[in-house]
Amino acid sequence: MFDRNNRPEPFKNKVWLSSPTMHGEELEYVKEAYETNWMSTVGKNINEVERIICENIGCKYAVALSAGTAALHLAMKLAGLNLYGQPATGHGSLEGRKVFASDMTFDATVNPIVYEGGIPVFIDTERDTWNMDPVALEKAFEIYPEVRLVVMAHLYGTPGKIDELKAVCDKHGAIIIEDAAESLGATYNGIQTGTFGKYNCISFNGNKIITGSAGGMLLTDSEEAANKVRKWSTQARENAAWYQHEELGYNYRMSNVIAGVVRGQLPHLQEHIDQKRAIYERYKEGLKDLPVKMNPYDEKKSVPNFWLSCIIIDEDAMCKQVRGERDVCYVKEAGKTCPTEILEAIASINAEGRPIWKPMHMQPIYRMNPFITRNGNGRAMTNAYIEGSAVDVGMDIFERGLCLPSDNKMTTEEQTKIIEIIHRCFC
Ligand SMILES: *Cc1c(COP(=O)(O)O)cnc(C)c1O
Repeated sequence: MFDRNNRPEPFKNKVWLSSPTMHGEELEYVKEAYETNWMSTVGKNINEVERIICENIGCKYAVALSAGTAALHLAMKLAGLNLYGQPATGHGSLEGRKVFASDMTFDATVNPIVYEGGIPVFIDTERDTWNMDPVALEKAFEIYPEVRLVVMAHLYGTPGKIDELKAVCDKHGAIIIEDAAESLGATYNGIQTGTFGKYNCISFNGNKIITGSAGGMLLTDSEEAANKVRKWSTQARENAAWYQHEELGYNYRMSNVIAGVVRGQLPHLQEHIDQKRAIYERYKEGLKDLPVKMNPYDEKKSVPNFWLSCIIIDEDAMCKQVRGERDVCYVKEAGKTCPTEILEAIASINAEGRPIWKPMHMQPIYRMNPFITRNGNGRAMTNAYIEGSAVDVGMDIFERGLCLPSDNKMTTEEQTKIIEIIHRCFC
C-alpha cells in the first residue's frame, strides 16, 4: 500500500513540534508599554496578566516571573522554609533533604530542588496518564518516611492522577508543588491544573500552549507566600530609604514588555487548546489501524490541553533500537519500526518530532539519585518484565514513545502527510 522509498515532497515551511502562534494583540500591549515608558518590571501588563490568570485559573494570587523555572525555584524555597524553617547556612532551605519528584518530565521540574540543596528522589510513571505513579509514591514514603515535599508535573498537558497523589501526600503530611508548565488550561474534575498544590507554577516559554516569548508564574492561595515571592524576585529589598537586605534576593520578576505578549495571548488560550485537541483527534483517527496508541488520559476525570500529541508503539511492533548516551541505532524489520525511524521519517519531510522526555533517573546528572518504582528501589532492578509489564515504566515509554509535530499552525494537509509517512515506517 505504502512504498517506503517513495517519500512525499518535504514541506516548504517547516512544521514545528510546537512554536509560538501570535495574533496581533500582543504587539498592541507591547507598544502600550513602550509608549507609556513602562519598560521595566512594573506596569499595567504585569498587573493585568496576574489578575486574568487568577480569574481564569481560580487561584487567589499569581506572581509574574521571568520563567517557569524561576517560579519553581521560589516554590522550592517557600516549601523549604515552610517545612524546615530558616536554613542555618543561609544557603538552600532544602539543604540535604530528599524531595520526591516526577521522573518523566523536563529537567526544569527537578533542577530547582538542587538549587535549594535538596536531593531529588524520582518516582516512576504510570501508564494511564504518563505521570507520577501514586503506587510508586506510596512506596517511596515507605522507604523515605521523612520526606514532606512532592513536586509533580503534568506531562504534555495531561493531568496526572491528582486525587490519588493528593491522598498519598495527605496521608504522609507532605506538601505538593504542582508543575503545570505544560498543562495551562487543562482541568481535572473540572478544576484547573495549577491549583492543586500549595505552590504551583506555569510557564510562558516559547513552545508552551501560550507564550510571552519567555516568562512564568507562581500561583498560590497564600498571601504570605505571594508576598515573599514578590519580594525575593525583586532582589529582596526591605522597606527602607536605601537598599536594605535581610534575605537572599533574586532578579526573577517578569518584564512589563513580556507581560504585554502574555496579555495579548491570554484571550487565545482556549482557541489554542481547541486546535491542539483537533490535532490529537486527527492523529488518533489517522493512526488507528497501526500498532500504536496515543498518549492516554482519563476521559472521565480530565480534560488535557493537548499541548503535544504523542504515540507509543506496541511492544511486538518494535524493531531493535539501541540508544547510547548521545547516539542511537536501530535494525529495520519488516512490519516493525521504532521511534528513531519514525522521527527520521518525519524529519525527512521537514517536520519536527521529538523523543519522549528522557526520564530523570536515566540522565547522567541524576544517575546517583534514588529512583522508586511500584516495586520499590528501581535502581536495584533491571528493566525485567514482570507479569507482562515493564518494571521501569518511564524507561519503557521513553523506548517506545515519541512526540509528533503538534504545532497549532499545521494544516490538515500537512498532518495527513505526516500520518502517511508514519504508516510507511510500518511497512
Ligand atoms: C517548560 C517547562 C518548565 C520550565 O519553564 P520555563 O518557563 O521554560 O522556565 C518547567 N517544567 C516543565 C514540565 C516544562 O515543560
